[in-house]
Amino acid sequence: MTIPAEKMMARVITSLVAAAALGACDATPVETSAPDINLVTVHCGTLIDGIADEPMSNKTVAIFNGRIDAILDGPPSTDDYIDLSDYTCLPGLIDTHTHLVERDGSAANLSIFYTRSLEDEQEIARGNAAVTLGAGFTTVRNVGAYNGWAGRVLRDRINSGEIDGPRMQTAGFYLTIPGGGGDLVIPGYEEEDIPARVRMGIARGPDEFRRKAQIAVAGGADVLKAIASGAVLAFGGVPGAPEMTREELQAVAEVAHAAGIKLTAHAHGAESIKDAILAGADSIEHASLADDEAIALAVQHDVAFSMDIYNGTHIATVGREQGWPAEFLRKNDETTEAQRQVFTKAHAAGVPIIFGTDAAVYPHGDNAKMFPVMVERGMTPMQAIKAATSVAANYIGWSDDVGAIETSRYGDIVAVRGNPLTDIGILQRIDVVIKGGERFK
Ligand SMILES: [Zn+2]
Repeated sequence: MTIPAEKMMARVITSLVAAAALGACDATPVETSAPDINLVTVHCGTLIDGIADEPMSNKTVAIFNGRIDAILDGPPSTDDYIDLSDYTCLPGLIDTHTHLVERDGSAANLSIFYTRSLEDEQEIARGNAAVTLGAGFTTVRNVGAYNGWAGRVLRDRINSGEIDGPRMQTAGFYLTIPGGGGDLVIPGYEEEDIPARVRMGIARGPDEFRRKAQIAVAGGADVLKAIASGAVLAFGGVPGAPEMTREELQAVAEVAHAAGIKLTAHAHGAESIKDAILAGADSIEHASLADDEAIALAVQHDVAFSMDIYNGTHIATVGREQGWPAEFLRKNDETTEAQRQVFTKAHAAGVPIIFGTDAAVYPHGDNAKMFPVMVERGMTPMQAIKAATSVAANYIGWSDDVGAIETSRYGDIVAVRGNPLTDIGILQRIDVVIKGGERFK
């Protein structure tokens, strides 16, 4: 019986770092440069692991073949390591609500999605993915693109190593009713002028939604995205007014769960939030106008809220400067402060809050601007960090892989100078980004 090479190496690393931890200056040098051995050692002055309530100091993280093999006390014995002794290390951050294929500000003129070439779109996506990774978000959930499968193309390019970007779950096309928040019909355009690829998830009735959801799963979606109630940045409709029925949402949830993936539901209004929870959604995006009953239901069903409580500020300022449609600005004003109050209430009531920004509404890379708002609105800095690490990982179903600096998860580590627990705003300036043991910044 042979011991697999990986297991053997794990033992070697553990003893190497343990020797260092004991302060053994004359520790036997261990061969780490063999061609097939991929060992990266990181020394963190301060380490927030994403799970513990308190930071730790002077820790060494050994990453072997992309995953964390050991976390030990003290500096490593080898000279060949990433020295972050002046930094605070954190798990790679997770944003559960991005649209990496969309350029920020495109909402000002939605018809661009009718005419933009697929090549141009992927070039935009490549830039967004690089910027997002550079901002410290090593994992994202891409919850939609108007062009049905553009997110899948991007995910596959990142996974193959062709381009740099975060680990990515991607939704298929938006599941939405005709004329709903995910339907790209624009006043003044005829239906026959709209390319079919931007309307793949339009359905009505449980049977049709089930069929569309199955097509999304078969096509490789990692998560399903349903538009339960109307969008802010869409024409017609009232934000929060139910669009999909509970039965339609339930049909989609059943397909998702049968495939072992999650359903996230875009919902602003209390009724549609309740419908989505009772139908089996795993998370609610926006949740702007949740009432006490919806909050209690979320707690009871362990459904997470992904609330973008920064972007209202961006839309109100940049949207006005750039002349976004008046209807969008009005709907934004109606939902921003209300949503922030709901955030405070929901968090206090025990709703799991997962970090989600709606990146693409505001520029990719600005994701971390939301952290200070989360703290202003009732979270401790550690809670805000967990919302973007271990808690997010739990609710997107990836807690074996990301969201914590913990043995066997991916070696995804970011670092900042200073203490994010006293100044959460410094997370807007991530100095070091390591993904799977590979340093990108
Ligand atoms: Zn969104």
